Amino acid sequence: MTNYDYLIVGSGLFGATFAYFARKAGKRCLVIDKRPQLGGNVYCEQIEGINIHKYGAHIFHTNNKEVWDFVNSLVEFNRYTNSPVANYKGELYNLPFNMNTFCQMWKDVHTPEEAKARIEEQKAEAVAALQGQEPANLEEQALCLVGKDIFEKLIKEYTEKQWGRDCKDLPAFIIKRLPVRFVFDNNYFNDRYQGIPIGGYNVLINKLLEGIDTRINCDFFKEYKNNWREVADNLVYTGPLDEYFGYSLGRLDWRTVTFKTRVEDTPNYQGNAVINYTSHNEPYTRVIEHKHFEMFGQAVYDCPKTAVSEEYSTEYKLGMEQYYPVNDDKNNALAEQYRELAAKEENVIFGGRLAEYKYYDMAPITEKVMGLF
Ligand code: FAD
Ligand code: UDP
Repeated sequence: MTNYDYLIVGSGLFGATFAYFARKAGKRCLVIDKRPQLGGNVYCEQIEGINIHKYGAHIFHTNNKEVWDFVNSLVEFNRYTNSPVANYKGELYNLPFNMNTFCQMWKDVHTPEEAKARIEEQKAEAVAALQGQEPANLEEQALCLVGKDIFEKLIKEYTEKQWGRDCKDLPAFIIKRLPVRFVFDNNYFNDRYQGIPIGGYNVLINKLLEGIDTRINCDFFKEYKNNWREVADNLVYTGPLDEYFGYSLGRLDWRTVTFKTRVEDTPNYQGNAVINYTSHNEPYTRVIEHKHFEMFGQAVYDCPKTAVSEEYSTEYKLGMEQYYPVNDDKNNALAEQYRELAAKEENVIFGGRLAEYKYYDMAPITEKVMGLF
C-alpha cells in the first residue's frame, strides 16, 4: 500500500495546478520541491512590503475565458496592463511598436498614414536586398517587419544581449510575435485578459496547494528517484527532462537570466514596471520596478521605498537555474530522443517548461493541466 496516488516533483504552476485538480478528483498528492519555497518561477519574495518577482517578472495573460475564470476563482486579479518602455542611449520609446513609438522615432510623423508610409519606405529597402528570398534570420525578418530605424535602436542590441548571438545568427520566428500597431496603444499583449493576482502570486500558489502535503528543500534525485514507487502509484515530473534520464543522451542547452536587486530610497524610481535597455551601453536587458505591478496611483507614494531588479541574460552553465529552452535544431532533436524515452516510463507524467523542454507561458500551462482532468 502506497501513501499517495501522485508524487509531484516541482511546485511551480504545473505541479501546483495538477495537485489542485487531482485533490478535487479525490486523489492523494505529495508535492516536493528542491527549492526552499513553493511556487517555482512565479514565487515572490517580500522586500519593504513589495512583492519581488524573484525569478523574473510574470504577467498573467490569456484569451481563454475558462482559464481566466479558473484563476480568478482562486484569487482576484488586478488591472495591471504590461506597457514596457525602451531606453536607447537615454531616448525613451513606448513599446510594443505603435503610433507612440513611431511619433517618438520620427518627429515629422503624426498620423497612421504617415507612419505606414515611413515604415513601408524602409521595409522596401530590406525586401529589395533579399532579391526575392524569404527572410532567413532575425535581422532580415526585423528589417522586413519594421525597417532599419526601429531595428537599429530598439531591436538589434537588445536581442544581442538577450540571446548572446548576432541577429544574423538567430531564427526569424523570435521577432515575429512582437506586435506592430498603427494605433496609440502601449498594451504589450493582444490577449483579452491580463493582470497580477492581488496580494501576489504566492496567494495563487497557496490556494492551489491548500490541503495538500508538501515538502520543500527536497530533491527528487536525492530522496525519491529509486524508491518513489513505494510512496506513490504515479509520478508527475516537472524538473529538467535530461536530468531525469541522468543525461544519458547528452545535455540540453538552456539560456538563463540572473537578477541584481536593490532597494532605492524613493517611492517611484523609474515610473514603470518594466524599462528595456536596448543598447549595449548597459550590460542588463531590462530593469524591473516591482511595486508598479501591484500599486497604482497614490499607493505608489504611500510606500516610501522601492525595489528594482536589473536583469542579465547569460548562457547556462552547470549549477545555474534553467530558464529558457534553446529550441534550435540540435537541441530539439536531442529533446525528441528524450521524449521517446519518457513515453516508455510507466505511470510517469512529464509536464511543464523544464520536463517538456518547451517555452510555455503561465496560461497555457494552466490550460494544459485543466485539459488533463
Ligand atoms: P517552474 O515554475 O520552473 O517549476 C518547476 C519546479 O520544479 C521548480 O520549483 C523547481 O525547483 C522544481 N524542481 C526541479 N527539479 C526538481 C527536483 N529534482 N526535485 C524537486 N523539485 C525540482 N509566463 C507568463 O505567462 N507571463 C510572463 O510574464 C512570464 N514571464 C517569464 C519570465 C521569465 C524570466 C521566465 C523564465 C518565464 C516567464 N514566464 C512567463 C513563463 C512561466 O514562468 C512558466 O510558464 C511557468 O513558470 C512554468 O511552470 P512550471 O511548473 O512548468 O515550471
Ligand atoms: N525584443 C527586442 N526589443 C525589445 C523587446 C524585445 O528586440 O525591447 C525582441 C528580442 O529579440 C526578444 C523578443 O523580442 O527576444 C521577445 O521579447 P519579449 O520581451 O516578448 O520576450 P521575453 O523576454 O519576455 O520572453
